[in-house]
Amino acid sequence: MGKIIAIANQKGGVGKTTTTINLGGCLGVLEYKTLIVDADPQANTTSGTGFDPKNVRNIYDCLVNGAHPKDVILKTSNPNLDVLPSHLDLVGAELEMINMPNREYLLKSTLEKIKDDYDFILIDCPPALSLLTLNGLCAANGVIVPMQCEYFALEGLSDLVNTIKQVHANLNPDLVIIGLLRVMFDSRMTLQQQVSEQLLEHFGDKVFKTIIPRNVRLAEAPSYGLPGVAFDKSSRGAKAYLEFGAEMIERIKHM
Ligand code: ATP
Ligand code: MG
Repeated sequence: MGKIIAIANQKGGVGKTTTTINLGGCLGVLEYKTLIVDADPQANTTSGTGFDPKNVRNIYDCLVNGAHPKDVILKTSNPNLDVLPSHLDLVGAELEMINMPNREYLLKSTLEKIKDDYDFILIDCPPALSLLTLNGLCAANGVIVPMQCEYFALEGLSDLVNTIKQVHANLNPDLVIIGLLRVMFDSRMTLQQQVSEQLLEHFGDKVFKTIIPRNVRLAEAPSYGLPGVAFDKSSRGAKAYLEFGAEMIERIKHM
């Protein structure tokens, strides 16, 4: 298949990294060869999969210096799951990238070199509509948008959808929205249910049926350097991500 999927939302703390790590974990468990790309200078995906971002080569080398990703990619304890790590230096990389030719396509060129080695490549984007996120959207075949069902979530969503439309029109005609994923959901909160209903009204089938509940095991897992599905596969959060993984695979078969 060789699908490249960006996990994007310019809002901070909405579950991009958790979704990237856990979807990657699920795909790995299902024996799909999967690469997680950490495109965020915060390097949460790198540390959350058990690596110290200070002590490993990172994606900066690939984007700015043209290093081969094979020399930078790390193997996790799951033989089907690899990580292309990030580093705080990526903030500087973004400044250097602005003056480079093909600046929107540096991640795409990096991933071209290895894309045939994987069934899925998941890109964890930073919380901004920045050049790094743009690189993620230009490299991807599709986008998954994790979101919390809170009041301001819908406002930010229209900016993101417009950006995705512009990228589709001008830079990457392959790009589609795979779906919107409701995360950290607390069904006891009326507001969350209302926003969820509004989301379904506006976006219909684009909203994944699976809902990821708020679950403390998902928040604990990164400190053990493991996806929730490996850390505690019987937890509600892990089960929800496994269900989401299956729904996502089914959905992209029809795209
Ligand atoms: P940023 O924009 O800073 O990159 P993000 O969108 O990647 O953030 P995460 O880091 O995945 O968001 O999640 C934000 C916080 O919420 C983290 O502490 C994470 O552990 C926690 N979290 C994410 N999903 C869940 C969940 N379903 N249940 C409980 N906690 C969660
Ligand atoms: Mg993150």
